[in-house]
Amino acid sequence: DSRKYTGIVEDCCCDYETVDSLNGEVLHPLLQELVTTPFFRYFKVKLWCDCPFWPDDGMCRLRDCSVCECPENEFPEPFKKPMSLGLPSDDLVCQEGKPQATVDRTLDRKAFRGWMVIDNPWTNDDETDNGDMTYVNLQLNPERYTGYVGPSARRIWDAIYSENCPKYSSGEICQEKKVLYKLISGLHSSISIHIAADYLLDETANLWGENLELMYDRVLRYPDRVRNLYFTFLFVIRAVTKAADYLDQAEYDTGNHVEDLKAQSLMQKLLLNPKLQAACPLPFDEAKLWHGQSGPELKQQIQKQFRNISALMDCVGCEKCRLWGKLQVLGLGTALKILFSVDGQNQPDQPLQLQRNEVIALVNLLNRLSESVKLVHEMGPTIEKIMGERLSEP
Ligand code: FAD
Repeated sequence: DSRKYTGIVEDCCCDYETVDSLNGEVLHPLLQELVTTPFFRYFKVKLWCDCPFWPDDGMCRLRDCSVCECPENEFPEPFKKPMSLGLPSDDLVCQEGKPQATVDRTLDRKAFRGWMVIDNPWTNDDETDNGDMTYVNLQLNPERYTGYVGPSARRIWDAIYSENCPKYSSGEICQEKKVLYKLISGLHSSISIHIAADYLLDETANLWGENLELMYDRVLRYPDRVRNLYFTFLFVIRAVTKAADYLDQAEYDTGNHVEDLKAQSLMQKLLLNPKLQAACPLPFDEAKLWHGQSGPELKQQIQKQFRNISALMDCVGCEKCRLWGKLQVLGLGTALKILFSVDGQNQPDQPLQLQRNEVIALVNLLNRLSESVKLVHEMGPTIEKIMGERLSEP
C-alpha cells in the first residue's frame, strides 16, 4: 500500500483509511447536497466590525474579494421572524382556560424545542444581537483565492498562533491545549487547500483552476498539517453526531416545503448513517478531557483563547475571507459548545440549545473540511510525486 498516512488519526478513534472511505462514499456526497438547500445556504453575519486589536490594515487586490449580500426578499421568510431570548421561535401566547393550557410533557423529552436566540460562550460575536447583521448566500460567495496576502493576512495567523494557541512542544502533555492548536491548524490547512484548489491562474484571461504547487507548499509537504486537517474533521463529525437527537428533530424551515423536506432527509441520512456508525462510532472521545484538578480553570482559559481567535476574525482585511473565517470559527465554536459546554449528565436542566446560524455554520464547516480531506486524499499522492520529481531535477 502506497498510502502515506496510515493508522489511527492521532488523538482520535478512527484510522485514515476509514475516514477516506467514509468521506468518499457517504459524507462528502451528502454534505455537498445539503449545503445547497435554502436552509443551509443563507448565513447571517456581521461583516463590518472594527478590529479590536489594531487599526484596519486590510487590502485586497482582487474585485473577487467582496461579498455580495442577499437582497432582503431573497432570504427565507422564517429567518426574518424575531425570536425571543432563550425561548422557542413560535410566539408563546398565554392559553389560560383553554385546553392548550395543560402542560405539554412531551416537550420535556424533546431535544429540539424551536430555534432559540442564545449566545455561544466560545465566540466573541454576540449571537443575540441582530443589529448590522446581513444575510449572505454562501453558494454565490465561494471560499477561494482572493489575493489577500502579505502582512495583514500574516499578522492574523501570527496573532492566532502566538497569542492564543501556541504550538505545543513535543513534551506537552496537556491534551486540551493540543486540541485547540490542532483544531486551528486543521482549519488553516483546509483554508489553504481551498485557496489552492480554486486559484486565479491567469488574471488577464480570468482563468481559475488548481494550483498544485501551492497546495504542496502550504500543506502537503508538512505531514503535521495534513494530520491536523483529519483531526479537525473527526472532531467536527463527533460534534454533529453527538447532537444527533437535536439535529434530527430540528426544523429546517425556509417556507420552501420541498427543499426543506430534502434538507431534513439528507440530515437524517448523515446523522443516522449505518456505515458511519459501524466504521467510526466514536470519531473523537471528548470524555477524556478536562479531568485534572485544574480542569474547570483550564476550560475557561481555553474558552477565552478561542473567543480571542473569534474576535480576530474582525481584523481579516478581505470581506470574503472574513465571511468564511467567521463562519468556520463559529462552526468550530459550535462544535466546542456541543462537546464541552453542555453536559447532559451533570446538568440535565441545561439541555443543548443551538441557534439556527450555529447549525448552518457547523454543517458548512463540515462540508469544507470534507472537501479538503477528499482533495488531499485524491490529489495528494500525485502532487507529492510531481513535486518530488521536480525537486530532484538537477
Ligand atoms: P499563511 O497561510 O498566511 O500562513 C502563515 C504561517 O502560518 C506560515 O508561514 C506557517 O508558519 C504557519 N502555517 C501555515 N499553515 C499552517 C497550518 N496548517 N498549521 C500550522 N501552521 C501553519 N486568502 C484567500 O485567498 N482566500 C480566503 O478565503 C482566505 N481566507 C482567510 C481567512 C482567514 C481567517 C485568514 C487569517 C486568512 C485568509 N486568507 C485567505 C489568507 C491566507 O490564509 C494566507 O494568509 C495568504 O494566502 C498568505 O499565505 P502565506 O503563504 O503567507 O501563509
